[in-house]
Amino acid sequence: MSRIAFIGLGNMGSPMAQNLLKAGHELRVFDLVPAAVQTLTQAGAQAAASALEAVKDVDVVISMLPASKHVEGLYLGDSGLLQHIASGTLVLECSTIAPESARKVAQAARDKGVRMIDAPVSGGTGGAVAGTLTFIVGGEPADLEAARGYLEKMGKNIFHAGGAGAGQVAKICNNMLLGILMAGTSEALALGAANGLDPKVLSDIIAKSSGRNWATELYNPWPGVMDHAPASKQYAGGFGVDLMLKDLGLAAESALHARASVPLGELARNLYSLHSAQGHGGLDFSSILKLYQAKQV
Ligand code: NAD
Repeated sequence: MSRIAFIGLGNMGSPMAQNLLKAGHELRVFDLVPAAVQTLTQAGAQAAASALEAVKDVDVVISMLPASKHVEGLYLGDSGLLQHIASGTLVLECSTIAPESARKVAQAARDKGVRMIDAPVSGGTGGAVAGTLTFIVGGEPADLEAARGYLEKMGKNIFHAGGAGAGQVAKICNNMLLGILMAGTSEALALGAANGLDPKVLSDIIAKSSGRNWATELYNPWPGVMDHAPASKQYAGGFGVDLMLKDLGLAAESALHARASVPLGELARNLYSLHSAQGHGGLDFSSILKLYQAKQV
């Protein structure tokens, strides 16, 4: 069994770390939020007082942070972890970040003899808890093979998208589509409800018709349609509006960079931006439904 440092114990990192513990690995964990660390120590992990302390004498480092600036801040610079991680250590960077950031950090790792892959995930918090995530990996094939045993304890599907940063490109394309389809699903359900349909009945119809998608099958945005979905828990937990907004921003940047057109992605980004500006940035992204729910005046 391996010694693993796990940094970033939020909605995704916490259940992922718990699955590694269940598999028998020895975990040293760190998060800026003490309560997040406590949840893991209660499950058998060892608490570290800092990220630096977490990575001392471990075989593997895993990070699951919000965005590029957090990842660059953690690994790069004079006080960054790459100054302290032993050469030969395997680093699995699982956050969703800009491909250029992933490449920059991977290059800095390579310069230090540290083996790093970008391994962003898909599958939501439900997938993280169940250990059925999809990992979308960028990096050297040999490093992916070294990481595979760990990834398999947290996920079910593992894809190699290409070299460093390629995992992030694929993940961004997926999430742009997810943002568009969650907004589209909300729009359709709100249209039906405004015309007198029961959203549950309409959801059942769509789930067996040509408009079906991940939201109608697993993550319905209408409260009460699916008991386990964030919509039925006041949109708590899940995947935050501001994280979706970040991913749609990454899609827009990637499009600019490659001179590609993403009109629906840009429209979705504006919808989530408006929704966030109305004070909903911390809710699950399926709360985009609120934008469509007409107020009776
Ligand atoms: P989250 O905000 O719930 O958790 C992030 C955690 O990182 C927080 O607990 C925060 O305190 C911690 N953190 C931030 N900076 C830190 C630092 N320097 N050192 C230690 N801890 C630090 O976010 P999440 O929902 O767990 O998402 C994490 C990543 O996974 C994001 O990049 C997100 O886009 C991606 N993602 C999320 C989902 C989802 O459904 N939530 C699905 C797929 C991918």
